[in-house]
Amino acid sequence: MAKTLTPKVLVIGGGPGGYVAAIRAGQLGLDCVLVESDRLGGTCLIRGCIPSKAVIHAAGKFEAMAHSVGKGSCGIRLKEAPVLDMAEMLRWKETIVDKMNRGVAGLLGKATVQVVTGRAEFSDGKTCEVQTASGPVTIKTEHVILATGSIALPFPGVPFGGSVISSSEALSLERLPERLVVIGAGYIGLELGIAYRKFGSKVTVIEAREQILPLYDKELVRPVERWLERADVTVHVGAKVTALRESANECTVSVQTRDDAPINVTADTVLVTIGRKPATEGWGVENMAVDMRGPYINVDDQCRTSMRDVWAIGDVVGEPMLAHKASAQGAMVAEIIAGHRRRFDPVAIPAVCFTEPEIVTVGLLPLEAARQGIETVSGVFPFAANGRALTMEAADVGGFVRVLARPDNHRVLGIQAVGLLVSELSGEFAHALEMGAVLEDIAGTIHQHPTLSEAFHEAALRALGHAIHI
Ligand code: FAD
Repeated sequence: MAKTLTPKVLVIGGGPGGYVAAIRAGQLGLDCVLVESDRLGGTCLIRGCIPSKAVIHAAGKFEAMAHSVGKGSCGIRLKEAPVLDMAEMLRWKETIVDKMNRGVAGLLGKATVQVVTGRAEFSDGKTCEVQTASGPVTIKTEHVILATGSIALPFPGVPFGGSVISSSEALSLERLPERLVVIGAGYIGLELGIAYRKFGSKVTVIEAREQILPLYDKELVRPVERWLERADVTVHVGAKVTALRESANECTVSVQTRDDAPINVTADTVLVTIGRKPATEGWGVENMAVDMRGPYINVDDQCRTSMRDVWAIGDVVGEPMLAHKASAQGAMVAEIIAGHRRRFDPVAIPAVCFTEPEIVTVGLLPLEAARQGIETVSGVFPFAANGRALTMEAADVGGFVRVLARPDNHRVLGIQAVGLLVSELSGEFAHALEMGAVLEDIAGTIHQHPTLSEAFHEAALRALGHAIHI
């Protein structure tokens, strides 16, 4: 006989949206079941944020060692070129993924969340069936939190498989591609393309828009473009892929370039990173009477769907498709169900590209300010004038911190940075915006010397007209 569970809260999806919602629900004393068809941790832990950053780290280490051969750097010379053992690198990456996967299971257990492994399929708004290894389980609940995430978009008409891969396969390649084509120069494609270039692949990037990382302004992207040039990565912007043809051991990518010249690029591996779509198919969302907004599940500012007590969070509700947004929404929904008064209205959600160098954006970009007719003052401080950046060999990549503020009351509206390890500044930037900082707050905060964060201090001083170190 089918087993039946009747929790107060049912969470579908064990990614950073779903597992955080479930843990918070458990902490608040709500009887909670989480259903996950794959491994706990979702896209982020299993095939996204974490494994990609592990691969990027390994690639950076390999490149630094490769640069130390011969002439060396900082007085350190290696006599022989480093050897890349892909299988060992992947094993190391998997130990991190496994550790985090077990960590999530442990945290769910501590919060007394019951985990059901299998794919949930809904027959109505509050009832689903899960086919588990030990038979079907029917779950009837009061509250449903949908956190089914997103999946990679394939190139039209060419499913993933063989030499045409998505980011998931790119994080588990057993053999280093000799020639890699990356279609789509958003953050996922560039992060992985740069990592493979550092490992030694010949990389070609094709982007339909006029610039890599098209959401950002030219100044912010320039240091990454410069790295790609120096690393001999071929980049075609304003270029459209017209066809992908697979043969025995390679794939031919036909491209209509910016000046309308058709070219063919052959590669042993083609990574398609043209976007992600919400995971809304194959689990009965159509039986739940929830309204959609385009491809996404439509929610209000409390993540309520149009169906009473059915909530949706994370990638499945739209951009920004980022883990920390999913988690913040998950915690909020659990708290609302427990009776707290909450609303999802962050001043800003930080976004980081773990490219070479890294880019951080929080709040308003200059392009957006101009588009919205918002007047701003800005202060830019280059890492070339920052002591810590010099000691990290990070001063000559053209990186900087930029602060945008209102000219009348100096309220900070946006902060951006590009440079080595600037991802670690994203917390301070987000905090400043969330606390409603004005330029004088940042200028009046004593920043640790020597750190990259001093560039933030100096950018604020510069916007006020009295930077010290430039
Ligand atoms: P997901 O993490 O996608 O989790 C959804 C889960 O639901 C999945 O585990 C899936 O198996 C499960 N599921 C779906 N349907 C069902 C069903 N019917 N029954 C049971 N289970 C189901 N974000 C960042 O913030 N920083 C980064 O550096 C970053 N890097 C990334 C790198 C890559 C290569 C990729 C692909 C993504 C990256 N992201 C990053 C994005 C981030 O992974 C997502 O924004 C985040 O995982 C979304 O969380 P989620 O909980 O909404 O969904």
